[in-house]
Amino acid sequence: MATLVTIRTPAGERWVLAIAGDRFVDPDTVDIDREFATSELWALPGLADAHAHLTMTNPSDIGGLSDETMIRNIPATSWAHVERGVLLILDKGAGSDLSLITLHHDEDLRPEAEVAGALIRPAGGYMPGFGAEVSPNELSEHVRTKASKAGGWVKIIGDWPRRGQGPVSNYSLEQLAEAVEIVHAAGARVAVHTMAFAASDAVAAGVDSIEHGPFLTQDDLVSLGARNGAWVPTIANMESVREMLGPDSSGGRMFTEGLNRVRENLPLAEDAGVTVLAGTDLAIPHGTVSIEAERLHAYGLTSAAATDAASTNAYRYTGRTDRLSAGSPASAVFFDQNPYDRIETLQHPALVVHRGRLIEGSRAGLS
Ligand SMILES: [Zn+2]
Repeated sequence: MATLVTIRTPAGERWVLAIAGDRFVDPDTVDIDREFATSELWALPGLADAHAHLTMTNPSDIGGLSDETMIRNIPATSWAHVERGVLLILDKGAGSDLSLITLHHDEDLRPEAEVAGALIRPAGGYMPGFGAEVSPNELSEHVRTKASKAGGWVKIIGDWPRRGQGPVSNYSLEQLAEAVEIVHAAGARVAVHTMAFAASDAVAAGVDSIEHGPFLTQDDLVSLGARNGAWVPTIANMESVREMLGPDSSGGRMFTEGLNRVRENLPLAEDAGVTVLAGTDLAIPHGTVSIEAERLHAYGLTSAAATDAASTNAYRYTGRTDRLSAGSPASAVFFDQNPYDRIETLQHPALVVHRGRLIEGSRAGLS
C-alpha cells in the first residue's frame, strides 16, 4: 500500500516517488493504491526556519517565562510550523535547557529540529536573568559540559549594549575560538548572536553560524564562505527592533546602518559561498519563515536564492542532503506556482506532506 507522488523542483527537474509509511520509496517496489495530485505543482523538501525559538511566542518572552509556559508553548509553536510547511527548525536557544525537550515531542507533531539549550552570556551581556550566565574565563568549561548534551547547537551572545557605552563584545576572540574547538570536538555547532562588532571575532573564531550579523565585513563574508559557514540575517527581526528603539534613537540609527549593510552584503555573501538562511526569531509568527524569505528578496537575493535560503540551504547545511529521494523521510511541501519566479508563493503551500501524512488544512490533493 503506497501513494504515488510526482516531484517537480523549482529548477524544473521532475521524478516520481511513492510514499510507504513515513518514507519515500522507489514506486516500482510497492503496490500503489492512491496518488497525490502533485504533477502540476512545485516541490521543496520543506520550508526551514533557521532561527526560531519554540519555547517562546513573541519577543517580550525574553523578559522571562516560567518552565510551565515554555513546556506548554512547544506543541503549539511546533504545529504552527508544520501546518505551513516549515518542516525543519533550528531552535537557537532559550532561557534554560528546557528547550531541549522539543526533541522528545512526537515527531509527527513537530518539524525536524536541532536545538540549542540555554543561551550563553556573561553578566550584563543580555536580557537580565535570561540564559546561562557564564563569565568569560568560564566559557570553555561551560561549553565542555553543555556541548554533548545539546541538540546539535550551542548559542553564545556575542555582543550586547551597555548603558552609556553602546555595544560591547561579551567574549574575546581567544575565548570564542577555544569554545568553538570544544563544541566541534563534541560534534555540535556554535551559533553567535551579534548585532554589532563581535561579528568579526566570531567569524575569526570559527563559529558555524552568525545570527543577525548586520556588521559583518566583506572580509568576514569571504572567511565564512570559505568554510561554508552560515549567516541568518533575520531581517524582519532587525527591522522590528529598529521600530521598537525608534528610528531616530542612537540604537535605531545603528540598526538603519546595519540594515543598509545587510543589503550590500547579501549578494556578496552569495558570491563568497556563505550559506544564507532565513530565520523568523519571534519578530514574525511561528510558521511564517516565508515572510522572512520575502525580506531577503527585498534586500537583494533573487527569488530563487531567497527560496533556497528558506528551504534547501538549511537541509543541505545540516547534512540532510538526500531529501525527496527513495529512502528519505516522506516530507515535502508543494506550491501552485514556482517560488523561484515569485517568492510570495511560499506563503501559501498547496499541499504539505509530513512524514508520509497529508497535513490537514493543506489542500486535499488526493485522486
Ligand atoms: Zn533569537
